[in-house]
Amino acid sequence: MTPGPGWFSARETGPGVHLIAEPGHVNSYLVVGDSLALLYDTGMGIGDIGREVRALTGLPLLVVNSHHHYDHRGGNASLVGEAKEFAAHTAGADLHGSPAPRDWLESYAHIARGLRERYEELHALDTAGFFLTDSRIEVRPVPELTHWRIEAVRPTRLLHEGDVLDLGGRRLHVLHTPGHSPDGICLWEPETGLLLAGDTLISGTFFAHIPGADVPAFADSTRRLAELPVATALLGHNLRHRESAEFVSRVAEAFERVRDGLTRPGRWADMFGTAVWRHDFDGFAVLTVLDETPAVHP
Ligand SMILES: [Zn+2]
Repeated sequence: MTPGPGWFSARETGPGVHLIAEPGHVNSYLVVGDSLALLYDTGMGIGDIGREVRALTGLPLLVVNSHHHYDHRGGNASLVGEAKEFAAHTAGADLHGSPAPRDWLESYAHIARGLRERYEELHALDTAGFFLTDSRIEVRPVPELTHWRIEAVRPTRLLHEGDVLDLGGRRLHVLHTPGHSPDGICLWEPETGLLLAGDTLISGTFFAHIPGADVPAFADSTRRLAELPVATALLGHNLRHRESAEFVSRVAEAFERVRDGLTRPGRWADMFGTAVWRHDFDGFAVLTVLDETPAVHP
């Protein structure tokens, strides 16, 4: 596995806040304080995220995983010896204990190659006249993934609701936001209105159908976020990586509608091919378990 240069796309997205994107896959963020840098998620483990971090800061590093899913902790193992601590919500302590199974890695590698192929088609159309794409968010060619691994790294620090992470000159508050997964955490900086949202806010399809997901909890968590004076919400996936308070409110309302059976979902399949209900909203969709009969039939 030797990813070529440019698997990541890093850029400053706010004062002292860097997006380290794997475009089309996942977004990790580096927040730089005066005495400590915080890496919120470590991505797929396909490229060397440590190299990206070192190019941006020489400060001691605290890794915080938004939740335990493989695509948000793939780079943890590569940072052992480099990061001061690995922090995760206490509900995820045991969930970090397993490496990604080979069949998951193979399925994802297949998805990644398909994504790149479709992106090339989109790019050809774009060059012919749409002019919508941006090289910073271009889906990258997929390197050879035969030896790709996502190893388990036990958290060295367990986080709880209300904990404050002091980076020197900036303080991030831990919000426990279950719904997508039981150990989901967002980080909130009241002084700037910055919200690091992980998979609790997505500019594509919200995964509310997978094991550990919980629609009522998702509705409660997103409602809670909507009540914050959010200036910038930074999202865990997709090319549109930042959103505003207006978006957060619309997501909270959407989840309440899904929870209360007020939508008219259609049958769909997620990226792994699992059959789901898809509830469409303006600019995003919510996926729920198909074998739950929705309250209102299409
Ligand atoms: Zn996730």
